Amino acid sequence: MFSQAGREILIKAVVQAIPSYAMSCFRLPKKLIKNLHSLAANFWWGDTKDNKKLHWCTWDKLCKPKEEGGLEFWSLNEFNQALLAKQGWRLIYNPQSLLARVLKNSYYPNVSFMEAGCPPGASCVWKGICWGRKILQEGARWRIGNGREARVWEDKWIPRPSGTILLKKPEIEPQTKLHYFINTDGQWQIDKVKKHFHEEDIPWVQGIPIDLYVEDTLTWPYTPNGQYMVKSGYRIGREINLHPTRSSNMEDIHKWWKMLWSMSLPPRMKLFGWRVCHNWLPAKTNLAHRGMDVNLSCDLCGHQAETLTHALWGCAKVKTIWKLVPWYNKCAHFKNGSMFDIMVTLKEHLDKSEFEEAIKIMWAIWENRNRYWNKLPVMNGIQLLDWIFTAYPNSRKRKEQPTTLDMKHQQPKKWIRPPTGHISINCDAAMNTGTAGVGTGFIWRD
Ligand SMILES: [Zn+2]
Repeated sequence: MFSQAGREILIKAVVQAIPSYAMSCFRLPKKLIKNLHSLAANFWWGDTKDNKKLHWCTWDKLCKPKEEGGLEFWSLNEFNQALLAKQGWRLIYNPQSLLARVLKNSYYPNVSFMEAGCPPGASCVWKGICWGRKILQEGARWRIGNGREARVWEDKWIPRPSGTILLKKPEIEPQTKLHYFINTDGQWQIDKVKKHFHEEDIPWVQGIPIDLYVEDTLTWPYTPNGQYMVKSGYRIGREINLHPTRSSNMEDIHKWWKMLWSMSLPPRMKLFGWRVCHNWLPAKTNLAHRGMDVNLSCDLCGHQAETLTHALWGCAKVKTIWKLVPWYNKCAHFKNGSMFDIMVTLKEHLDKSEFEEAIKIMWAIWENRNRYWNKLPVMNGIQLLDWIFTAYPNSRKRKEQPTTLDMKHQQPKKWIRPPTGHISINCDAAMNTGTAGVGTGFIWRD
């Protein structure tokens, strides 16, 4: 049997790779995707035919990025869409391929791929590609050459870090191409630009150099070479389909999860810490909350209801274990809140390795509780700490981290003279977020 952490790896490696060929050709039916997700979810939560397990959250939540509290499983719907977007990208960049010529002939003989329509009777292949194209429409940017391809209002072409379409809709015909604003000598028609565009857009527009001999090209801003990649396309697809809510403390949330996943602990303990934060463990009140008929009182002390906080932190029997830990006096005054609150407070009061110890101890306490449930002999506090620190010694002692030392000894890279007849060019560029313009520097040396 695999642990939950092992099953995570297996799902990522195998289960998700199986349908990728079909998914790069067709849009899979929603029902099929739902079934595949439910198979993966059952496997991950440990369901078997005879032994149904509780699923503590939806599969979709598990598909969130790790920094948002998920586990980064692929959501097959958006993965499917991102793969089909790649087909669309190929139509743009390999217009001579057989598929591109056939599709162009059938569906967009007189317009570009990005403008092509999708009639109701179109083939599955074309419908799928049009669906994938939504990702390109959302994520891709135009690099302007002569302005004959990019549309003024409909397309994304303002080279701003965010908000790449115009702020104000100009009073011109729909689908007008950008060259409407460009002179025959390759300059912006400033009067027209000023008349139609929002004043904040004007400096951005004026900063775009026109080149009458170069076609406009579609680029993918999330890769260094500007070519579409499925991974970033997938992320855009998630954003389109889920409309994620951006709360003001998003940054804190990201920081928290990043910290949790970067701990020097075995995967199963990190996963345990993640489940503790979400309150996704079968403490008795959690089970009752999910409709199970259980006696709520704690089996260890017999006094109070077994919430997750009680089982891991508040129970008098558990307290005796915590009191044996050298740094416990820093935390003795904690009030009982949710386990997530306690984790956050622990993190505030403890250093990194103490916090990791705290997760280890919680994990051991939970294991010990499960031993009781399974009628196995339980450990007392001293035995438990002895076991956990022998079996999982502190990461600080286990491996030395020589990286900072290495950095000091690293020599700065030396400039090397190029061979005779060659020129070496060093360059750098910088930009200020949100403002127009960039600074660049070059040195040519022989
Ligand atoms: Zn108790």
